[in-house]
Amino acid sequence: MTYAQSVKDEILKNMKGLRACCQQSFLLAVLGGSSSFNLQNGQLCPTLTTRDEKLAQVSCDIAQKHLSSTPQLVKEQKGKHQKFDVTFDGDVAQKLGLVQTVDGAVEICDTIPPMSNCCKTAFIKGLFCTFGSVTIPKPAQGSIADMTPSQSYHLEIALPKVAWCDQVLEILTSVVDGFKVTEREESVLFYLKDAEHIGNMLVAMGAVAGKLMLENVLVERSIRNNANRQANCISANIDKTVAASEKQILAIQKLKNNGKLQKLSDELKEVAEARLNNPEATLLELATRLNLTKNCVNKRLYKLIELSQKK
Ligand SMILES: [Zn+2]
Repeated sequence: MTYAQSVKDEILKNMKGLRACCQQSFLLAVLGGSSSFNLQNGQLCPTLTTRDEKLAQVSCDIAQKHLSSTPQLVKEQKGKHQKFDVTFDGDVAQKLGLVQTVDGAVEICDTIPPMSNCCKTAFIKGLFCTFGSVTIPKPAQGSIADMTPSQSYHLEIALPKVAWCDQVLEILTSVVDGFKVTEREESVLFYLKDAEHIGNMLVAMGAVAGKLMLENVLVERSIRNNANRQANCISANIDKTVAASEKQILAIQKLKNNGKLQKLSDELKEVAEARLNNPEATLLELATRLNLTKNCVNKRLYKLIELSQKK
């Protein structure tokens, strides 16, 4: 199962608990952009076609319970894929505010009826479950085994071009910040690219498990980034230590070869000896070994280099 499907399943599972007004707003979003309409007995009857059995079932239930309709659910098996056609009878479209009658002709409405705040969220759930998709980077340890690997955070709603697309953006931004819009072929694409905005959207839609999974990925990635940064930092320090040590050893060996080292003070000779014997030690390690301060060891090593450069 994909991450997107797990989020949709979570939303659909909780639909029964919503108010009647919200359930209808959900169905309005589902049918408003996707359905084909047939004229039956002077009424426009919408048909929803989807691969998501749960979406088909939830849509049926809402129409049955709140719009006194008896939808027909037909399952079609095409090879591996299943397809579900739900045909809604009676005046479902009319009741949802999807059709209007002008001089006896039936037309699809070009505006969405005004909604209260609770219904806006339900409308967004309907949009996402029907036209939505979301991907996040795959967690190292995830509960979704065959999750599609992705490197980026992306949530989108690809709505077929309907007259009320502008209203959709208004409704989306009234609930979650950050939505951008673009057109793609026959669709209008509403999308989020930022993990934080996607998290807010998941919470708004009640996809708590989905949000937790996103959070896990964020934490995991930040730990990994920090570890990488630390490792980089450590190896940079090692490089620096090695380069400094090489320079010191060259200087000490030069002093040794030209006999100058023997004539130096015991303090300098002690540090020179310690460095030669411990080429990979850091300043702090040398200082600890000699029971001196780091600063002191540094000064003496610096002095040795200076002396080696004197003619
Ligand atoms: Zn409501």
